[in-house]
Amino acid sequence: MKKAQKLIDFIKADVKANGGKLVLHKTKSVKWGSESSNGFFDESDVSLHVATNYDIKDWLGILVHEYCHFQQYLENCYQWRICYDPIDVFELFEDVLKPNVKYDPDLVHRSFNAIRNLELDCERRTVKMLKEFNSPINVTKYCQGASAYVFFYNYVSKHKKWYKKDTAPYRVKAVYSRMPDNLNGRYDKMPKWMENLFAEHCV
Ligand SMILES: [Zn+2]
Repeated sequence: MKKAQKLIDFIKADVKANGGKLVLHKTKSVKWGSESSNGFFDESDVSLHVATNYDIKDWLGILVHEYCHFQQYLENCYQWRICYDPIDVFELFEDVLKPNVKYDPDLVHRSFNAIRNLELDCERRTVKMLKEFNSPINVTKYCQGASAYVFFYNYVSKHKKWYKKDTAPYRVKAVYSRMPDNLNGRYDKMPKWMENLFAEHCV
């Protein structure tokens, strides 16, 4: 796992150099707002959080993913900016997932698209980095998981449901094994078979 350690050390050093904080939690999940998650980047205190009570191959990709959100934040790239202007789409996202909350469907649709596009940009950066560092992660499999995750935002937008604790789309083989193994395609339309797959296995 030397290659993995090289990547982890690089991220640790770079996060620190740019005024951020990396927290590797010895748990199976971390709290992100009211949801449990495998990792997240919190721009309010510039901290990255990753649940690491898994095989390293299962959390290293999450670490790189959160690090790429940190990069988006530092660059203030278009996909990042659009998530905070004119509204904070993540706040809306949390509200929409609560029961009995009234919302403007058009605003929700646009906001979820913004998050999906942010995640897609982040996953493309992640894959680039995994390749550059010659990481021990199987990139083909990672891309399938990432595809499942990005497509899943279309499901959330339509049904207002997040995945259950242990059934993230990128962790369920029945789901990710049917997804594209590269990130070159479009993610703005979810075919019916995929919608059914998420409904059956993830939510
Ligand atoms: Zn993300």
